[in-house]
Amino acid sequence: MDKTRSALRFKQVSTQELPNWCGGCGDFNILFALKGAVAELDIPLENVVLVSGIGCGSKTPHFIKTYGFEGLHGRILPVATGVKLANKDLTVIAIGGDGDGYGIGAGHLFHTLRRNFDMTYIVQNNAVYGLTKGQTSPTSEKGFKSNSTPSGALEDATNPMVLGITTGATYVARGYAYDVDHLKKLIIGAVEHKGFSLLDVFQPCTTYNKIQTVAWYKQHLKKLEDDTSFDSKNKQEALKRAMQWGETIWYGKFYQERKSTYEEGLPQIAKASLLNQMRENQNIDISPLMNKFK
Ligand code: SF4
Repeated sequence: MDKTRSALRFKQVSTQELPNWCGGCGDFNILFALKGAVAELDIPLENVVLVSGIGCGSKTPHFIKTYGFEGLHGRILPVATGVKLANKDLTVIAIGGDGDGYGIGAGHLFHTLRRNFDMTYIVQNNAVYGLTKGQTSPTSEKGFKSNSTPSGALEDATNPMVLGITTGATYVARGYAYDVDHLKKLIIGAVEHKGFSLLDVFQPCTTYNKIQTVAWYKQHLKKLEDDTSFDSKNKQEALKRAMQWGETIWYGKFYQERKSTYEEGLPQIAKASLLNQMRENQNIDISPLMNKFK
């Protein structure tokens, strides 16, 4: 897509609403990358649905001119699954925080990963519960001090990349909010991938996480795409890189494979979406209803 069309699409994708996140919050850049990706993907905006939960970043659907659904805390994936089952032709992008996805919604995540629905799940991972004022989350470092663990977290942090690779996601990637162009490419890759894409995004929370700061990320992060010996089709190698957590922490696309999706295996919707079947079988005209929302 040429630059002029891309800029025009970016404008079309943006709503009038403005986020009121704290200064320096990584959510701004994730939003920017997501808008850029949706603009470049050139999918009709009425065919894109953003599903979010509860959290600072879960306000994202308000700022992009697609369909959106802001649901309950931890229930992003059941809603996204429902949308996909009703109309598999839609591009479904689920988006929410680490507390929402890896804490409250962890049970849903596990089963959605292994089902391999054709959808994208972006996790705004700041390793803390931001909206509820700074409690320890499943991705907080061991020893992390917060309102909920004043003496320091006792558990090891969960590793979403390892979880994604070993539990069945077929596109597993980690982005960084302060590498926006790279993040945009990862989002485009995730949406274009046929199957379930787990895209965890490191994002500094400038208010409640004083450990994983921009300086901390700068010191530790290395991009997989800069290492030409790395092959994202090699599961063992992907796992090895994903497990590395110390001086070097890798980000980029860890793993991708093509496997049949849940929708392809489900006879009721394998050939046509439920919506289209309903329209064809009952000759239902939904245009009066749709006109109400214009
Ligand atoms: Fe962003 Fe943290 Fe502020 Fe929430 S509390 S808006 S995550 S910086």
